[in-house]
Amino acid sequence: MPKDRARFLRVKCKDCPNEQIVFERAASVVACQVCGAVILEPTGGKALVRAEVIGVVE
Ligand SMILES: [Zn+2]
Repeated sequence: MPKDRARFLRVKCKDCPNEQIVFERAASVVACQVCGAVILEPTGGKALVRAEVIGVVE
């Protein structure tokens, strides 16, 4: 069992007020649903979050 299981993060876009839920280990780039800014980039492990993380969805 992996120690750090992937979570869903609630993030706020840096370019607009949009908030959305993203998967921590997303396999592809996640863009803001409102303005299209890159919110999350895959790295092979935990993705690189390019937005403000405001919470974790348990
Ligand atoms: Zn946005």
